[in-house]
Amino acid sequence: MFDHDGYRDNKLRARMKWLVEKLGFEELQRRILRERKFLLASSSWPGGIPDVVKARGDAPAGQQAGAEATPVGQGIAVAIGGRAPYERWEQANVVRGAAKGTVSAYAWARLGDVTAEQFEALADLQRELGAECRVTNRQNIVFRDLADGQLPRLFEALSAINMAEPGAELLRDVVACPGADTCNLAVTQSRGLASAIGDRLEEEGLAEVGGLRINISGCTNSCGQHHASDIGFFGAERRAHGRSAPGYQMLLGGYVGDTQIHFGAKALRLPARNAPEATVRVVRRFAAEREAGEEFRHWLDRQGGARAVGKTLADLDEFPTPEAGPEFFVDFDETGPYEAVIGESECAT
Ligand code: SF4
Repeated sequence: MFDHDGYRDNKLRARMKWLVEKLGFEELQRRILRERKFLLASSSWPGGIPDVVKARGDAPAGQQAGAEATPVGQGIAVAIGGRAPYERWEQANVVRGAAKGTVSAYAWARLGDVTAEQFEALADLQRELGAECRVTNRQNIVFRDLADGQLPRLFEALSAINMAEPGAELLRDVVACPGADTCNLAVTQSRGLASAIGDRLEEEGLAEVGGLRINISGCTNSCGQHHASDIGFFGAERRAHGRSAPGYQMLLGGYVGDTQIHFGAKALRLPARNAPEATVRVVRRFAAEREAGEEFRHWLDRQGGARAVGKTLADLDEFPTPEAGPEFFVDFDETGPYEAVIGESECAT
């Protein structure tokens, strides 16, 4: 509906919220549901994939009974074993569809960053393999329409440009909006936090926990989609010892399901510097306490919900004095003291 009726000529109004204002929620919902009737092959079609779609062999990846396909989506635990780099990449980054034997593979981009040289190499690869490329909403690039025999060559070429990390859908695949790097609406350096969380997870041996997503936004606008992630953060200015300081609201339990979305619930607010520690503690508990195949949100329910887990982290909502902990008053990737300044223009996403 946004494609049909959204504001495409005015950048300041190119948001779904303006379409809601223009049409009204009920009318927009009515039009979306009407449009959805034509999306027969959608994996979120109520009641499952219609028979006519199955009969024509057009089921989406992972939906055709009896065939071996890679399950995809939030909460699917990706387990990787083995030691050989190719084997680990193949387990984590290759997705096989059932219906037509399709093969897709992710090129992993840390923090969604791709250099000009990497883009050129990706374009060469795309031509060489005759594949289709798309950017994913976890900020990676997926090669589609591959044949199994092309995977070793793809891995070799991606390794040469540092994009063959077994990362897609594992915890190291932290997603952040541009934040204060380039966005005038940002309150915090969301990319800096994402990088710090990624580093801590690697240090703690937790980067390859599967079935769990982390998303970070530099303000409440949620371009980083913190609201629909298992562990979400959005930037918020804090005051401590008479000074401004970078902080975050932590949310837990958001998810995007086949037929519904659930927003994460508030766990606690904390200084930016303590957000990596809070993440590590939650992930460590989840990894240790989950039952076989248990999804994060179900584990969270068993713990009493986001607030209850937030209470176990309450000691992290402490600011030392500026003399005792000067880093608490400087945001990630910044050199000077934190300052809340309102910029001009729109967000950078
Ligand atoms: S406006 Fe969007 S891109 Fe900018 S900081 Fe907020 S969430 Fe991030």
